[in-house]
Amino acid sequence: MASIFTKIINGEIPSYKVAENEDYLAFLDINPNASGHTLVIPKKEENKLFDLSKEAYLSLLDFSYRVAKAIEKTIPCERVGMSVIGLEVPHVHVHLIPLNGMSDIQFTKKVTLKEEEFISLATKIANNFE
Ligand code: AMP
Repeated sequence: MASIFTKIINGEIPSYKVAENEDYLAFLDINPNASGHTLVIPKKEENKLFDLSKEAYLSLLDFSYRVAKAIEKTIPCERVGMSVIGLEVPHVHVHLIPLNGMSDIQFTKKVTLKEEEFISLATKIANNFE
């Protein structure tokens, strides 16, 4: 069965997109640790990060780097953190999270954003993506 992220790629369920090319998609996490928490996924569905070929792994990180730069330009924070977990959604995804402290990367503290805030954040990050 297609993962929830493949359904996002196929436009079957909505997302707040921040960057996209032929192989990768970046969109806002729906239950963010912090404002600007973004997920970067390969369009080719694969469960585990280290099951990717080395080339696909490095290419995903390269795209994630560009997305992280756009987040840094958009969201005031101490730094952008990166994490790969995948226990909830079995489709490789890189979490990019604006950090101001350890609690922002612990996946326990969550922020609630309104629809218009998601849209505004996604638009601003997208505008800074190069
Ligand atoms: P994990 O698999 O543990 O790395 O976490 C999966 C992440 O995907 C969580 O942070 C969820 O909030 C996020 N997530 C799940 N469904 C969606 C969705 N439809 N749109 C955006 N983010 C999602």
